[in-house]
Amino acid sequence: MSAADAFEAQTLCIIGTGLIGGSLALALKQNGYAGRIIGAGRTEQTLIDAKRLGVVDDYSTDMAAAVKDADIIFISVPLGAIKPVLQSIQPAVRADAVITDAGSAKQSVIDDVREVFGDGFAQFVPGHPIAGTENSGVRAAFAELYQNRRVILTPEPYTSEQAIDQVTTMWRLAGAQVSCMSAEHHDKVLAGTSHLPHMLAFALVDCLNNLEDIDEIFQYAAGGFRDFTRIASSDPVMWRDICLHNSAPIIEMIERYQNELEGIRQALQGQDGETLKQIFERAKQARDAFTGKT
Ligand code: NAP
Repeated sequence: MSAADAFEAQTLCIIGTGLIGGSLALALKQNGYAGRIIGAGRTEQTLIDAKRLGVVDDYSTDMAAAVKDADIIFISVPLGAIKPVLQSIQPAVRADAVITDAGSAKQSVIDDVREVFGDGFAQFVPGHPIAGTENSGVRAAFAELYQNRRVILTPEPYTSEQAIDQVTTMWRLAGAQVSCMSAEHHDKVLAGTSHLPHMLAFALVDCLNNLEDIDEIFQYAAGGFRDFTRIASSDPVMWRDICLHNSAPIIEMIERYQNELEGIRQALQGQDGETLKQIFERAKQARDAFTGKT
């Protein structure tokens, strides 16, 4: 039996059936997953909705009961809730079960798992799907979310190869491309490409919102403002947790960005059009290359 065939017969427990967990379940089902999917979480109504929407086959608000038969446990709750979830399920997790997660910062989750399951716990595969929207909750979930998107796994040297294979198989069936890197590298890269942009969007909208005549300002906001600030509609609790759990790399990126802005401020003050043009040209070239325009 191939790894994919073996995976498709397994029981998957998803703790946190929101956008990320719900979309994984829908993607797997759409792509032929025949195993049982059990939802778990703190709010019964969320789980009722998940069952009604065909996201899960069964559910329980008792997380320990929900994981006891699971071959794979996928944790997709906000980062601040991961340790309490691990504490609730730890006595009930089967010795051969694989645990993985979707947390947007990785070192903090690895530390949580170490505290709850002990040093060298081989059955945990840290993961992060680089996919999402500004919407949350199970009603925002959709089967195509992971199609051709990347998932980063950040295994430790002691992580079981078999567990990594199982999690890789799961994500590939959901349509994603899987790559591996260290948790430290992941946290630095994502601080720049995801966490800082969210901070900037939240800060810009908050800054404008504190101005007088705010209604008029938003009335004249054009497409660029909408594009730039779309992610400021993201869930505040999730983003509070991401900031608190990846604070050092985010602070480093904020300081770099402050330096960049200071350069622009000084160029403006000195009416230095050449410096401004050089900065904008460098940025345009880099973005065009990244989006494949050049
Ligand atoms: P979401 O749509 O808000 O779903 C979160 C789920 O967790 C909901 O089912 C929620 O249920 C449950 N939950 C919230 N707080 C909980 C708690 N204290 N204890 C137990 N369950 C709790 O969020 P999401 O976008 O799926 O994000 C989930 C995880 O994926 C986060 O760690 C996030 O960092 C990561 N992630 C998000 C994105 C993204 O773009 N959204 C991308 C990649 C990774 P209730 O109904 O009880 O609130």
